[in-house]
Amino acid sequence: MNVIGKLPFVIATRFSQKYRPPLQQIRNMSLVRSLAFVNNQWVPASSGETFEVTNPANGQVLGQVPDMDVDDTEQAVNVAFEAFKTWEHTTAKERSVLLRKWYNLLEDNKDEIAQIMTAESGKPLSEAAGEVAYANGFIDWFSEEARRIPGEIVASPTQTKEMMMIRRPIGVAALITPWNFPAAMITRKAGAALAAGCTCVIKPAEDTPLTALAMADLAAKAGIPKGVINVVTCSRKKAAEVGRVLCTSPQVAGLSFTGSTNVGKLLYEQCASTVKRVSLELGGNAPFIVFESADLEAAVKGAIACKFRNCGQTCVSANRLFVQESIFNQFVAKLEEAVKGLKVGDGAAAGVTQGPLINDAQATKVKQLVEDAVKKGAKVHLGGKPASEMGARYFQPTIISDVDHSMRVYNEEIFGPVAVCIPFKSEEEVLAIANSTRSGLAGYFYSNNLSQIWRVAKRLEVGMVGINEGLLSAPEAAFGGIKESGIGREGSHYGIEEYSYIKYLCFGHD
Ligand code: NAP
Repeated sequence: MNVIGKLPFVIATRFSQKYRPPLQQIRNMSLVRSLAFVNNQWVPASSGETFEVTNPANGQVLGQVPDMDVDDTEQAVNVAFEAFKTWEHTTAKERSVLLRKWYNLLEDNKDEIAQIMTAESGKPLSEAAGEVAYANGFIDWFSEEARRIPGEIVASPTQTKEMMMIRRPIGVAALITPWNFPAAMITRKAGAALAAGCTCVIKPAEDTPLTALAMADLAAKAGIPKGVINVVTCSRKKAAEVGRVLCTSPQVAGLSFTGSTNVGKLLYEQCASTVKRVSLELGGNAPFIVFESADLEAAVKGAIACKFRNCGQTCVSANRLFVQESIFNQFVAKLEEAVKGLKVGDGAAAGVTQGPLINDAQATKVKQLVEDAVKKGAKVHLGGKPASEMGARYFQPTIISDVDHSMRVYNEEIFGPVAVCIPFKSEEEVLAIANSTRSGLAGYFYSNNLSQIWRVAKRLEVGMVGINEGLLSAPEAAFGGIKESGIGREGSHYGIEEYSYIKYLCFGHD
């Protein structure tokens, strides 16, 4: 049965359970799609195979979408390659106007997209609404940036030559995205790609294809020409073969990937065979440092935002919370109070701040990380166990301390609602520990000492720093990491650079 066919069942079941069904209020049911999107047509997999999309809050099947393979992906790449031949010659203004129309439709349908996102990703509805606003912001931003892709005229060293550099679109961009931000990870890439004059093939995560398809539907309604945006859906078991086509096809000029570091490294290698432009947004291990001069209330508020948002499943989530010795107990006590105020449950229910983890693998991983720490002597201040009474994928918001480097929580990206608190003595010591990982995405610190703020901001080995601030992403700012957290930047005017190359023109004359 397709997605739409399943919905009445889902809705009826939810009503009887007396809680608000996530898809109940969708006015525009055409947004809930059960086919993939290639050449502005809704298409099945050539094999006819499908895979299920489920609600992580309760395991209910929301519907099926096509499980596409190598042939389907090659077909989508061909279509994008053909579409590029005309799209690259559109004017900046034409692309800007189309992106603006897409943005307007995304805004008109923001509640529906948030409901779809909550249903398939489990994130609380208020957070889904926040993500949709953030995601739409990239289309808004790049509709403006499309008209501001400048070139350069340089002073020639000779009398008989004039020299100029212009930017040109790279070609077809392959966009592979994760489940934790089902809308924003797509618009952050596709907005920049389209603005630059590229066409794209999007492969969303297995867990969250419905949000991607809803956005593609609105792109077509906005008048974005056929073949410019294509969405290839596939299950986890086909991700590698689909990814290989996107990374090795000579018709694809660039890959932009957001996801885990391991998969990112694999794709980076695969892209070498055709020397593609590569942009990677990979995993993080963000330090969250609270110095003794900090405003503790603000630091706790920041920690809640950046540790427990999306149930800790964001690449910029605080991974280890370092607190200066003199204020350690006070900070942990205040954090405990704040965490007690979080509410675990189905993201579609009112007041819920902590939804389920995305899938069984993620739930098992978080459980094992905490068990490993406890077995090796960590102290649990709050939580520490699955919230099994809610369902298989829920985990109690957790605070632990007394951790050391022998424990997995100390070294690995947790990606769950577990705050690991570690005391430190000096600025030197905490910087050495914070920088001792191969990750370098985001870092946060709280301090009211101006000299310290400058020192620490410069010395943290990360691409983004939150200073007395726990939420730092915005379309206007450059998002990205250093070390093994990635290559390239998304958002800001730098985002366009990933999808354009510099062409040098030399004019000879008498
Ligand atoms: P993931 O397993 O790397 O998956 C990301 C995407 O890659 C999904 O679409 C996935 O498809 C696909 N994929 C998996 N294996 C592939 C392969 N062999 N070839 C081609 N594609 C493949 O990551 P995740 O678990 O979904 O996301 C969590 C990770 O992403 C975390 O480490 C987090 O830090 C990172 N992340 C980084 C950022 C950032 O901007 N830096 C943002 C969000 C998340 P399937 O879903 O079908 O497996």
